[in-house]
Amino acid sequence: MTEVIRSAAALREKVTTWKRSGMLVGVVPTMGALHDGHLSLARAARGQSDRVIVTIFVNPMQFNNPEDLKKYPRDEARDLALLKADGVDVLFAPGPEEVYPRGFASTVSVTGVSAPMEGAFRPGHFDGVATVVTKLFGMTQAGRAFFGEKDWQQLQVVRRLVTDLNIPIRVIGCPTIREEDGLAMSSRNVRLTEQERSVAPALHRAMQAAAEAIRAGAPVAAALAEARDAVLRAGFAEIEYLDFRDAETLEPLDRPGPPARLLAAAMLGAVRLIDNIAV
Ligand code: AMP
Repeated sequence: MTEVIRSAAALREKVTTWKRSGMLVGVVPTMGALHDGHLSLARAARGQSDRVIVTIFVNPMQFNNPEDLKKYPRDEARDLALLKADGVDVLFAPGPEEVYPRGFASTVSVTGVSAPMEGAFRPGHFDGVATVVTKLFGMTQAGRAFFGEKDWQQLQVVRRLVTDLNIPIRVIGCPTIREEDGLAMSSRNVRLTEQERSVAPALHRAMQAAAEAIRAGAPVAAALAEARDAVLRAGFAEIEYLDFRDAETLEPLDRPGPPARLLAAAMLGAVRLIDNIAV
């Protein structure tokens, strides 16, 4: 049975009872419109904690584009059915006034890892993420938090803030779940037209080819240029970035060495897709 809780006070009461009996609480923060990627996090949480809270909150503070916020898919009834089937204990779905009550005036801002890529193309995005994640950690008092590698930069930002602010929670990164053709699952994929959907896997394909080329010793700049060409040729409208970077610091790399990742964001029609893979 999945209980739906909307207030921080009611959640605190529930979690306090759990923790009194020594239970380990896991949290999976999401914005809803759940897919197998989200559910894989809930399953990881189930396997590694005694009680699981999935949060659904479409956080206005992390949207830099009002149109994107307005069009963000929402279907709580369907989400709840999926969470029930997965044995999640609590769906925490607060409204915006619960999270940002009158007078709210604080921002959590992470520098460094949040600056390039998503930070550069979506100004203010990571302040919104860092602030809401800090609040969700406080509201849920969870001991473990599960995040997808799909949002690799976000995962590094969250790790940074948990370390820097001494938040007593363990952050666990979980692998990206993909469609059969390689497209990373995303709530935004439902906004692709049929034609765009058939083009979408080209991003992951091009990144895989670049990763292979770099592993085989090709110059990084040439491999990236070839991948960018391939993505545009396939029908993407624009590439915001397609970079080769240190997996942890997210500093650009011009040759392989430390653990590295390819990370990309590109526009397909009106939909912005992101992806990343290990090299
Ligand atoms: P979102 O609802 O998009 O904010 O995502 C909520 C959480 O699910 C984040 O930790 C994401 O990284 C994770 N997530 C989203 N898509 C995937 C996916 N395809 N595979 C694994 N995790 C994902």
